[in-house]
Formats: sequence, C-alpha cells, structure tokens
Amino acid sequence: MPGRDDTPILKTSHLLGIEGISVGEITALLDLADDYVTLGRSAEKKLGLLKGRTLINLFFEASTRTQSSFELAGKRLGADVLNMSVKTSSVSKGETLIDTATTLNAMRPDILVVRHQDSGAAELLSRKLDCCVVNAGDGSHEHPTQALLDALTIRRRRGGFEGLIVTICGDVLHSRVARSNIVLLSKMGARVRIAAPRTLLPADADRLGVEIFTDMRAALAGADIVMMLRLQQERMAGAFVPSTREYFRFYGLDREKLKLAKPGAFVMHPGPMNRGVEIDSTVADDIEVSVIQEQVEMGVAIRMAVLDALSRGLAAGGRNAP
Ligand code: ASP
Repeated sequence: MPGRDDTPILKTSHLLGIEGISVGEITALLDLADDYVTLGRSAEKKLGLLKGRTLINLFFEASTRTQSSFELAGKRLGADVLNMSVKTSSVSKGETLIDTATTLNAMRPDILVVRHQDSGAAELLSRKLDCCVVNAGDGSHEHPTQALLDALTIRRRRGGFEGLIVTICGDVLHSRVARSNIVLLSKMGARVRIAAPRTLLPADADRLGVEIFTDMRAALAGADIVMMLRLQQERMAGAFVPSTREYFRFYGLDREKLKLAKPGAFVMHPGPMNRGVEIDSTVADDIEVSVIQEQVEMGVAIRMAVLDALSRGLAAGGRNAP
C-alpha cells in the first residue's frame, strides 16, 4: 500500500523543477506513483496520509488538468484542499504575488501548489513562505509534475528510458513542458530531439544537450515517442508563424508524418490541444497510437506521489521550519 512507508524520497521540502532533483529521486517518485495508479484503479481510492493537512492550489493562469488533478490527489490522500481562483481574489484588485501568498501563508497551509506566468515565481515563494511549495508551471521555465507524469507514462509503456528517441515538436520556445521534459529525459538516458521552426526554438537551444531540427520529418525518422506541444499564442507578442494553416502543413502531426516514426511509436500531448494546428484529430483520438488520456490518469498518480513525498518531510507538529 503506498505511503505506509516514511522513507524520505525528496531531499528538499519543495518541488520547484526537474533541474534540482536526481535520477534516484525521480525513480523513487515514479515507483511510488505506480502504486498510486493501482490505487486509482481500485474501488476505494482514498487514504488518510494527509489527514489534517491543508493544501492550497494557487493558480494565476488557467488550468484544467493540473489544477483538478492536484485537487483530486490531495483529496484522495485525505487533505483539506482550497482552490484559489485568481479572478475572484484580491489579485484582480492589484495585490502582488507575494502579498497574496503571504496572506494564504497566514492560514497555515502545509503545501502550496502554485502556477504563475513568471519564470521563477515558485522559487521566490519557496524562499518567502514556510510551507512546501510545488511548481505547477512558472512562465516558460519549468512544469516538473508534467515531466514526471510523462515519464511515468513512458516507463510503464517501454519499461525504461535508456536509448529511447523522443522527438519533442512544436513551440519549444514558450514551453515549460519541453524544458522539464528535456532535463528529465536526458537525465534518464533518453535521446531527445526538438523540432520547431527557427522562430520557435529557444536562443539557448544548443546548450540543452538535444538534437535540433527545423525539418519535422527528419526529426520524426526513427522516433520511439512523439511529444507534441501546443502553439502558445498567449505568450507570443508578435507573429511567430505565418499562419496556423501553414504551421500545420509543416509542423502539424498527421497520419502521414507519423508514419516516419518507428513502427509502434506513440504520441503524447500535455494538453490543451489545438486540433488542426499542431495535431490532427485522427492521430489525437486514435487510442492505438495516442496516450493522451493515459497521461491525464498518470497526472493524478504522480501528484499523489509528489504530495506523499513532500508530506514525509513535514515536521510532526505541522509545517516546515520557517
Ligand atoms: N498545460 C501545459 C502547461 O501548463 C501545456 C500547455 O499549456 O500548452 O504548460
């Protein structure tokens, strides 16, 4: 049964990024999440591990999957969960990130899950607050639980990572999902390729330790896994692509392009999808090749594992030391 064990899993009391965690810590989280997948598939899904603990979900950006799965994960572990909707909070009246978080901190949460449009926001809060902080996406920087759930999906399908060719395709420039996945997959021994038009490649792409392609077809040749990214229009100040139609022609995944990947290759997407822009519905909805719904299931399990792991470090009396 998951969580009966109190062996520490994470060395720090926050989960801010994949950058800061080791191969051993990642493996231990994935092992624990495997147990939570089993629990999630059983009739009785609830444990009392976080009974009496308070989890606050503080989301400054829209979210469907991440916020609801953290909520479900907290509830399945027995925590009291508060969802802060930024639109109805004082943030819309001009309260700063720190003011809002300090106010919430005074309510003595044990774990704060935060999503914010600025890179570094979660790290900043982890220095100011005295609870565990989980980064649920900070600007275009990191989204660690997404990379962990993707890793769980891959490991359960392929048994490991060593030597797998993973092609990450699309708006790499604005994608925190791509950054966290590149770091995680490289650490675990996979070969990562990124494919994007030049305008959507990060300036530091050659320092990421990946193979870089502007020709999607070449990037797909022989790939074991194809991970598609959303075109993040909300982070684009100007025009990064001539038109979405043109973009689909060169960088949209359809059946014909997918044929270039290895036989048996599967397709991932963190959601939300722009159908007909980066992915065609005939691929996205084909359960023979698409694991997109499985990723959502793995998201709940991985977030339970992360909350369980962080709660092991909480002092018996309550929160972390200031
Ligand atoms: N849901 C993911 C994120 O929050 C991916 C995306 O929005 O495209 O970064």
